[in-house]
Amino acid sequence: MLTRDCIDCGLCARDCAFLQRHGGARQLAEKASAGTLPPEVPWQCSLCGLCTRLCPKDLDPAAVMLELRRAHFRQGGRPLSAHRRILAYERRGASPRFSLYLLPPGCRTVLFPGCALPGTRPGRLLELLHLLRQRYPDLGLVLDCCHKPSHDLGREEQVERMFGPVVHFLLAQGVRRVLTACPNCQRMFSSHGGALASQTVYEELCEINWQPPHTVAGTVTIHDPCGVRMRQGTHQAVRTLTTTLGLRIEEMRHCREKTVCCGEGGSVPYVAPGLAGSWTSLRLREAAERRVVTYCAGCVGFLGRHLHAMHLLDMVFAPRRALAGRIFVARPPLTSLNRLWLKFLLRRRMRQARIGQRRHDGTIGLTNVPQGDAD
Ligand code: SF4
Ligand code: SF4
Ligand code: SF4
Repeated sequence: MLTRDCIDCGLCARDCAFLQRHGGARQLAEKASAGTLPPEVPWQCSLCGLCTRLCPKDLDPAAVMLELRRAHFRQGGRPLSAHRRILAYERRGASPRFSLYLLPPGCRTVLFPGCALPGTRPGRLLELLHLLRQRYPDLGLVLDCCHKPSHDLGREEQVERMFGPVVHFLLAQGVRRVLTACPNCQRMFSSHGGALASQTVYEELCEINWQPPHTVAGTVTIHDPCGVRMRQGTHQAVRTLTTTLGLRIEEMRHCREKTVCCGEGGSVPYVAPGLAGSWTSLRLREAAERRVVTYCAGCVGFLGRHLHAMHLLDMVFAPRRALAGRIFVARPPLTSLNRLWLKFLLRRRMRQARIGQRRHDGTIGLTNVPQGDAD
């Protein structure tokens, strides 16, 4: 327990502006127990988990902040108005119009690319599907939201109500494995995916010994998204793919398990942009003008405002253009149109698949079962 076991060593606060602002983990926990913590404070923590990783006493300040967010909802609290936009984004991803489940006959594995990749890079998603189908001819595809934003905002009931059906539906349809392209989605399937096995497409590409059609030269550094802080296999796979491309990697001080947030974590930019920006500034200093490879569309978007950030999938499929900074990345409202276009296109291309989507109540149902696949 933090109030009892924290030795106030300050390790967790060394790079965390949030803890520095509020006097440290122990002080925060004491105020929380005494009920004197200002209500806005838990929403200012990025939930990045660096404090938890660094604590010599195995304490978990991030969990304390998440628990306070959850308590807000358990006590009947409503979402903050500042979070309206991110929650609308999440709702859109899990709506009947945007969601899609394509399950070819015999499908045991699905690709779950998340919301950001299909919106910003629809062509990349098609290339990825094509590549993975060489290993899994019956690979399925799910366009839906993992509800990590709700998870991080402490909306446990919403996660249960909206992510639970994803897991149950896939299992009921015979799916046993999920491949993720978004680290946040991976985190959700790891923690809430039940009997579904999951791993990132980056590990998958390493397993199939992916080789680039041609190599490129240059030096990059790697930003590991904090959502997969503890997934050493993912960190290694990303580095293997990067060096396979011919690139040299120079690591930043905060990397792998000790990575830092890009600034977008915990929906902090909506309530405390200065604190979110302190993480981004740290990344900028450590990147020191080197090109940054990362593997979360959100991180690329956030860091990309300040430095040359490249999505690993852009590096895999268009390395020269990615290195030259010539990748077209769609922005809203085009991102929504891209997702709708993908849904239309993929439904047409995979006519032999069982097709499902969300209903208005959040459950998922089949809308089309091809003849001969009605069992
Ligand atoms: S911002 Fe990150 S390091 Fe700081 S308290 Fe929150 S989870 Fe811990
Ligand atoms: S690292 Fe752990 S022991 Fe040290 S101040 Fe933070 S919570 Fe306390
Ligand atoms: S974590 Fe992935 S699926 Fe969830 S909102 Fe973000 S991009 Fe979408």
